[in-house]
Amino acid sequence: MTLLVGSLTLMAGVITSVVLYQSYKQVEHISINHTLNVARIAQRSISRNMELLSLALDSLAWRYRHTQLHRMPPQQQLDFLLGEKIEAGYIVAQGIIDADGQRVVGSPVLEEIMPGNFSGRDFFDVPRQDTRDALYISPPQAVRLERRAQVIVLSKRLVHVDGSFGGVVFMVLYLDYFRQLFEAMSLEKNAVMSLYSVDGVAYMRLPYDEAFIGSRVENAPQLQHLLAASAPAEGSYFTRSRQDGVQRLYTYVRVPQTRWVVFIGHTKEALFREWMRMFYAVVFLMALFSTAAAYLISRLREEFFRRSKLDQQLEEQARTDKLTSLLNRRALDDALQEAWHKCQRNESARFAVLFADVDFFKLYNDTYGHKAGDYALVAVSRCIKAAVSRHCDRAGRYGGEEFVVLLDEADAEGAVHVAKLIIAALQAQKIPHERSPFGRLTISIGVACLERGIHRSIEEVVKAADQALYQAKREGRNRVRLSQAPAEMAPAAWQFSSASS
Ligand code: GH3
Ligand code: MG
Ligand code: MG
Repeated sequence: MTLLVGSLTLMAGVITSVVLYQSYKQVEHISINHTLNVARIAQRSISRNMELLSLALDSLAWRYRHTQLHRMPPQQQLDFLLGEKIEAGYIVAQGIIDADGQRVVGSPVLEEIMPGNFSGRDFFDVPRQDTRDALYISPPQAVRLERRAQVIVLSKRLVHVDGSFGGVVFMVLYLDYFRQLFEAMSLEKNAVMSLYSVDGVAYMRLPYDEAFIGSRVENAPQLQHLLAASAPAEGSYFTRSRQDGVQRLYTYVRVPQTRWVVFIGHTKEALFREWMRMFYAVVFLMALFSTAAAYLISRLREEFFRRSKLDQQLEEQARTDKLTSLLNRRALDDALQEAWHKCQRNESARFAVLFADVDFFKLYNDTYGHKAGDYALVAVSRCIKAAVSRHCDRAGRYGGEEFVVLLDEADAEGAVHVAKLIIAALQAQKIPHERSPFGRLTISIGVACLERGIHRSIEEVVKAADQALYQAKREGRNRVRLSQAPAEMAPAAWQFSSASS
């Protein structure tokens, strides 16, 4: 039962651990997918907007090349090229620069934020050297308008009809565009969302920190990994943040046609909050279950030991004589049978039987009363116990005032010796018996040893001892008589005189 409860508890523990592990993996999988989806949405929005802005620059370039342009007065030229409302949304300014870096046309605010010649500025120099018709995106830079603001410049190369460099069309864009886009994703409190170029320049990061924008993260292994041409377009990994030291799940998605990568990092704590709650609940329940099981096991064990002790006591009681606490008749018969069978199995085994009977006991009862008779029997039993000290020997009440002692591995000499010890012990008690010729309570004992080839059952051995007892009685009582005494042990009877004690 204990084993069963223990196994069940162990099994429940194993099953719970497997289920917890699987649910952990599932939460991880769902979290990665969810975060990837959010990053993809941001990436698509950025991509589409960059595409639109690139088209806007193309259209500006197309209008610039329009044949009628130089016939228009200057204000009309400006309106035609840049539109009436040129500073729309996140666009700070637009302009066109000629092949020498001189501003041809541009938003009036350019005078304030980017005065002078443009040669030497990255958004002019890079398209000048890059003959591909690619959109150039500058690193973040701070400009001062009504307030300090972070911007990027998008530019495209202009070409003459002969294919030679004709200047640059460009557009200045507030980085707040990314900030508002990221904020609209409403991520959890400790989440981070950022936009980096693969060479480690930070374009945006939430939580927002202006000082961080435009800085370059050196030796970031994840970014270096993304620099490789074979790097995957998206992925995820767990790492500790360099900024706040918090363990997060990061997912990243590259923005096509640009050098940008969108990162989203969710704290492990937030992702697994619900799972952790379930985990603690399960651990608590398991602990409760294990405690209950342990309690049950201990109670079962206690109950088991209590019962087996009770059974043992009952068994002992069932085998004990109430008055003398020696073996009762049934137990004595069992012990005799056992000794007999042992000798059947083992050729060299032997035993002896003592048959003892209190002398003139009827007279004792008649003289002192039945109760005194009982006390006397208890005294006799004590004498027997004192004489029979070996663990393997058995003494029992055969019935009335008769006792039988089974001596294991005893020869005639040893058996007679024990019988004499019993008689001597009773003598020493000096229990008065005025109607006995000895004046004291005495006992007679018949001794029989197992004789192989003569005795055919245990009953015959007991009967031999009984007959020896009968003879002891006949010869005067208060003595030992050996059933088939070997010649050297004659005379066969030993009498104790009451005076000798
Ligand atoms: P002998 O010397 O020949 O053995 O004579 P005896 O009187 O002892 O033998 P007998 O068989 O005539 O008497 C036995 C008596 O033992 C009869 C009975 O009253 C008494 N007796 C038997 N069992 C008990 C018992 O449990 N308690 C008491 N007090 N007396 C018992
Ligand atoms: Mg008798
Ligand atoms: Mg008697």
